[in-house]
Amino acid sequence: MTTKLLLTFAICRLIVTVGLTVDPSELLRLGVEGQLSVDPYDVETASLDFGLISRSEPMAVLHPGSADDIARLVQSAYLSSQGFTVSARGHGHSINGQAQTSNGVVIEMSGRSRGSRLGSGNLAKPQVALKEMHVDVWGGELWIDVLRSTLEHGLAPKSWTDYLYLSVGGTLSNGGISGQAFNHGPQISNVYELDVVTGKGELMTCSEEQNSKLFHAVLGGLGQFGIITRARIALEPAPQRVRWIRVLYSNFSTFTRDQEHLISLHGEPSTLKFDYVEGFVIVDEGLINNWRSSFFSPRNPVKISSVGANGGVLYCLEITKNYDESTGDTIDQEVEALMKNLNFIPSTVFTTDLPYIDFLDRVHKAELKLRAKDLWEVPHPWLNLFVPKSRIADLDRGVFKGILGNNKTSGPILIYPMNKNKWDKRSSVVTPDEEVFYLVALLRSALDNGEETQSLEYLTDQNREILSFCDDAGIKVKQYLPHYTTREEWMDHFGDKWDQFYQRKMEFDPRRILATGQRIFNPSS
Ligand code: FAD
Repeated sequence: MTTKLLLTFAICRLIVTVGLTVDPSELLRLGVEGQLSVDPYDVETASLDFGLISRSEPMAVLHPGSADDIARLVQSAYLSSQGFTVSARGHGHSINGQAQTSNGVVIEMSGRSRGSRLGSGNLAKPQVALKEMHVDVWGGELWIDVLRSTLEHGLAPKSWTDYLYLSVGGTLSNGGISGQAFNHGPQISNVYELDVVTGKGELMTCSEEQNSKLFHAVLGGLGQFGIITRARIALEPAPQRVRWIRVLYSNFSTFTRDQEHLISLHGEPSTLKFDYVEGFVIVDEGLINNWRSSFFSPRNPVKISSVGANGGVLYCLEITKNYDESTGDTIDQEVEALMKNLNFIPSTVFTTDLPYIDFLDRVHKAELKLRAKDLWEVPHPWLNLFVPKSRIADLDRGVFKGILGNNKTSGPILIYPMNKNKWDKRSSVVTPDEEVFYLVALLRSALDNGEETQSLEYLTDQNREILSFCDDAGIKVKQYLPHYTTREEWMDHFGDKWDQFYQRKMEFDPRRILATGQRIFNPSS
């Protein structure tokens, strides 16, 4: 069947099945290269996300064939007399419906064959520029595929997320952080250029030099200003191997002092430093069941009681040093030199060594294990907070040793510091007003197993309690991957940046049709 026939078929079904509010002839006239679908499978997929907490059915789903398809669709929504909304969906790994829309079209940026996106200046697969050390990628490309493509040239992006089955456009709309952020900044600090379809349906190239207002608005912009169709990402020579080390602490201030010391070692490539600094909190003995802790061999279980945890809580520092086989003879001395300044519990050093790609792709292995046990597709009431360094000890007392009590872990609790000077103030993202701030990520899964403390309701209430605790204690946290439902909360979240955020919205998406699932703006008719 030709594309046109398929489209006509889709539109007819659309009219019959959902009583579309948009004039169907407008969509028919789009003449997209890709496919506009009302297939129940596509609609169902686009209604859900990783959070499995909220659900909104779009009227149709576009599998774009090119950036021009996206421009045509958005322009049609912008010019349409009744108006309809358009939400880009990366890999649908949001928690609270951020990529969903109930009265519009979802654009599936990832998935399906990429071959059809050739033409109109679009990308069949990541294009590496060796001399310039950058890669051009489609906005819906998954980071795992970016990595595989660049490794063919011995190169890799510098800044990562812990999990690579996320889309480039999705993480750049938020920030994109992992243990490299203290040194390289978040992923949004490692982008040279973007192609963006604005809310008026214009396809624009932007960078520091060209259309810079749009460039900075889109980075960390929660999808509010445009749809990223291409990103140019900075590369570095890819290391071959990784020395991966975990050590434990029972004293919180010793733990954070060491983390802060390690992230102060950044900057010059010649500075001796770890390449990745993260950490996590262990509030119960479920360490071995913790979905990211396969590292601790079951033959060598760690008992909180055996290492004298203070208040029943342990802290694990996680660090890595990259190296090449040709320079492998110095790795032991380098690691030793860095570790001799740390004050962890001496008997708790866990070390492993693995290829770079296996380290970066580590969470996917945990995913496969959880999928095998039917524990992946469950609700995820995640809460991610940026916490100013000056108040992190209060959070430890009030949350890790207080609110969380000694409940079952239900998922990892990450904690690691970052340097604010690696974040570009001009981007849309907001971080606490201190030079060093922490990510505290409660990445918990809700289970329907009869245990009250693992239920969705219990964990959601606990998240609310944590936010109220911070509010009452005057701890000025900022949510990362934020979720709010009222204008007042969003204004409070953006603080000084709200006016600029609002003005940028009026300029680039004046009908407020993009990414309405973030619930920041209501579409105008
Ligand atoms: P989606 O959920 O599909 O979309 C997110 C938002 O971005 C939506 O508002 C959507 O409309 C918009 N959007 C999507 N694509 C585009 C585009 N091309 N242009 C403009 N807007 C777009 N984050 C970290 O920073 N570090 C981590 O280590 C990390 N680990 C994670 C591990 C797991 C298992 C999961 C589920 C998430 C993790 N995240 C992490 C969060 C992740 O960065 C966000 O979920 C992010 O939204 C990327 O997911 P996605 O590509 O599926 O985007």
